[in-house]
Amino acid sequence: MDTDVVISGAGPTGLLLAAELALAGVRVRVLERRQRRHQQSRALTLHPRSIEILDLRGIAERFLALGHTVPGWHFAGLPKHLDFSVLDTRHGYTLFLEQARTERLLEERARELGVEVCYGHEVVSLAQDDDGVTVTGTAPGGEFHLRAAYLVGCDGGRSTVRACAGIGFPGTDGTMSAMLGDFAVVDKEAIAAAGRTPVLITPLTGGLTRFVLADAERMRVPATEPVTFAEFRDALVRLAGTSFGIAEPKWLSRFGNATRLTEKYRDRRIFLAGDAAHIHFPAAGQGLNTGLQDAMNLGWKLAADINGWAPPGLLDTYHSERFPVGQLVTDNTQAQTLLLELTLVPEYSRPVSALRAMMDSLLDIPDVNTRLAGQVSALATCYPAPGEDPLVGTRMPDIALGSPGLRVSTLLHAGTFGYIDFSGAGAAQVAEGWTGRITVAAGGDRSWADDVSEVLVRPDGHIAWVRRENSPPDAATRQARLAAWAGTPAQPAVRR
Ligand SMILES: Cc1cc2nc3c(=O)[nH]c(=O)nc-3n(C[C@H](O)[C@H](O)[C@H](O)COP(=O)(O)OP(=O)(O)OC[C@H]3O[C@@H](n4cnc5c(N)ncnc54)[C@H](O)[C@@H]3O)c2cc1C
Repeated sequence: MDTDVVISGAGPTGLLLAAELALAGVRVRVLERRQRRHQQSRALTLHPRSIEILDLRGIAERFLALGHTVPGWHFAGLPKHLDFSVLDTRHGYTLFLEQARTERLLEERARELGVEVCYGHEVVSLAQDDDGVTVTGTAPGGEFHLRAAYLVGCDGGRSTVRACAGIGFPGTDGTMSAMLGDFAVVDKEAIAAAGRTPVLITPLTGGLTRFVLADAERMRVPATEPVTFAEFRDALVRLAGTSFGIAEPKWLSRFGNATRLTEKYRDRRIFLAGDAAHIHFPAAGQGLNTGLQDAMNLGWKLAADINGWAPPGLLDTYHSERFPVGQLVTDNTQAQTLLLELTLVPEYSRPVSALRAMMDSLLDIPDVNTRLAGQVSALATCYPAPGEDPLVGTRMPDIALGSPGLRVSTLLHAGTFGYIDFSGAGAAQVAEGWTGRITVAAGGDRSWADDVSEVLVRPDGHIAWVRRENSPPDAATRQARLAAWAGTPAQPAVRR
């Protein structure tokens, strides 16, 4: 093998996945067809669960230092925003950070861990067999062939990996499009005086200003058609009554609501993650965030397999856990988009405006906010395990642990499982049996679940197993339950 894992695509998903694999000692090569990193940013947001997973690896501060936080984010473009500050997290906000900066930080992290990111390398075909995948591509030096145990397509909505693997991408074509423009010159006074306008106006770094708009006259133009400056300016005047003095466009782009979800996240030795697995309208800013969480779910599982201790079936849980999340995101973005699209259609404009007003008022109900904010922030993401304790599959809150300064997030920095022993029953057994795979902590704040005596937390921060006080400690049960996730104890590592 030339390497353990090849990742196609150095977007946010591919870069985080590469870092996760490298953290676990897996050899990984990222192939990126662009010659250099993107300078423009599609996404501008990191939602609470994304900050939490960065925190699980001790790198959240790098991102927080470059962005600024706002207490929530919009849903369907309704006037009232979702309030993340009421959610049970230390990061109850949206971090406003341009995608180009997020990618730079993720690439720095991956390189620190020894990942090779190969720009100018385009994957063009692949062939998989029982032992691995052969990836063929083009690079400045000519054609290349790489052999790896696994290939992950993180290569965006038009994924070459997905197409070459023959994996279906069912869904619906776009019915509407919107436009964005980043401009170096704007009339700041006109912006300040604008008041409420249907145009989203956002200051970016480097003195740029972003305008995002959906214009009834241009909404049926296919997303693939380039935007002209005149078209953008005319749409601004139609919608806001002014062009806001825009000049020197740095980026003009059209994006649509085509919505598709891969039929499978895994096909034997090939995996899909991020936009390669799901595309949708960027309603409530979820695409990049969902891709990061795909990467976090897949990284430790692939690493466990390569490092020779993955329990049977672990790799298949990537599809069974992430497919339902993809369904939820594609469903909620379609619902949101319909609420936007129909206001632009004359015969529906009036009733849909009434529906939007009704939805807006419902956001005042705390339970409604909690439900939608939990979904958009991804804090409510759960990987349910029928028949198990209801806590299994939920995300472990970042509680303080027994040792001073130790929290759940710090316990997982090395990408291992975390085992928290609130009762002193199993720490010695676990520390001895799963050295290097499970990090052990004793004691902690039990107010989140006061009858839990032991808990096993997965490397991605979700709960794998709990024991409650009403079931007595039992070494054999503990061993079996931990082995089901973290492999046979003290098993000699057989690297693939
Ligand atoms: C206008 C707009 C606003 C958005 N705002 C938000 C937001 O606020 N929040 C949010 O969460 N999401 C947002 N999104 C969505 C977000 O931008 C994407 O979900 C995110 O970029 C997906 O990341 P990715 O790494 O999966 O794919 P990509 O970012 O698409 O990266 C894929 C990479 O693969 C490379 N590649 C493609 N083919 C090959 C090949 N054959 N060989 C090698 N490399 C290849 C590409 O060059 C690219 O670098 C927005 C999207 C749009 C259009």
